[in-house]
Amino acid sequence: RKLGVALVGLGKYSTGQLAPALQQTQLCRLAGVVTGTPAKAAKWKQQYNLPEQNIYDYKTFDRIADNPNIDIVYVVLPVGMHEEFTVRAAQAGKHVICEKPMAISSAECRRMIEACRKAGKMLSIGYRLHFEPHHREMMRLGQQQVYGPVQRLLADNGFRFDNDTPWRVDKELAGGGPLMDLGIYCLQGVVYTKGELPVSVTAKYTPKPNNNLFKEVEAGINWQLQFTDGSAADCRTSYAENMSSRLRAEAAKGWMELQPAFGYGGISGRTSQGPLNIQNVPQQARQMDDFANCVLNNQPTRVPGEMGLRDMQLIEAIYRAADTGQKVRIEGVQNIIDKV
Ligand code: NAD
Repeated sequence: RKLGVALVGLGKYSTGQLAPALQQTQLCRLAGVVTGTPAKAAKWKQQYNLPEQNIYDYKTFDRIADNPNIDIVYVVLPVGMHEEFTVRAAQAGKHVICEKPMAISSAECRRMIEACRKAGKMLSIGYRLHFEPHHREMMRLGQQQVYGPVQRLLADNGFRFDNDTPWRVDKELAGGGPLMDLGIYCLQGVVYTKGELPVSVTAKYTPKPNNNLFKEVEAGINWQLQFTDGSAADCRTSYAENMSSRLRAEAAKGWMELQPAFGYGGISGRTSQGPLNIQNVPQQARQMDDFANCVLNNQPTRVPGEMGLRDMQLIEAIYRAADTGQKVRIEGVQNIIDKV
């Protein structure tokens, strides 16, 4: 039997990526939806042949507890709503995938982890690139020190935000600006390539453009992470600038780089020895199948809630560094690394 997945929130990512990916998965299938918009419910019911009893709204959602056809709830809502729906899903006895960033604060992340632990359900974060072979190769080259210990890392990810999803610049719903949404890929990339957590951070916000969009969140931020061996990562993200999407690592005997690095496909890479001849894969299908496999075989996921908490703690340290202009020590973060 394939595990049944219910998508909560039928916005751009569910519609454009996750639902199509669920047509390609081997171990799970789209079994239901949770939406506040009746017209979307009707459209999805027809398009994906969903039975009426597997369609919920935000009020009836808790009744999902009585639905044996749904094993996994996938939370694809604005970030400020992740905690509520993850906790309600766990309390309804469902395993949970929650989109990135996990929540708007580390306190929320802790409550989400606790709710899933208490319910005996698995929790993972929608970190699709951990299942993408170019990124796995960056992890291998970096963590196994194929060119020597990585000394310098660079990561950029940004685009001009056109307010198509206004919640992304609303502090309560997004938690922050591009750092939360796009910079998290830079942060993740440098951590899994280096294969360890940084020990300190410095950061600076970039100037806001005169368009009134960024009243509540940053328009852009540059930050530097220092590692215990003296190596460092330089990262940039923005909602005001189209940046190259790039992840690069340099070591004494060579370098490796992905560019474009962070998209749903079209990832391309090279090292100092030449191009990486690696195929792109359907990332979201791989990610969801991996989680279904973990659920079916009771194995830990590579991208657990604890990793979402780790990243939120690092993001909070980056914001603190930018707010104070001081170097901030990274302390009390659980050492969770996706090891190749
Ligand atoms: P979106 O705005 O297109 O979709 C959000 C959905 O939530 C909409 O269907 C909207 O109707 C619903 N919603 C319910 N209450 C809402 C409220 N109060 N305000 C606004 N919307 C509300 O956004 P999206 O791009 O689909 O992002 C959804 C989630 O997926 C976010 O957590 C985002 O970070 C994540 N995401 C992840 C990736 C990835 O590559 N992993 C890519 C895009 C988005």
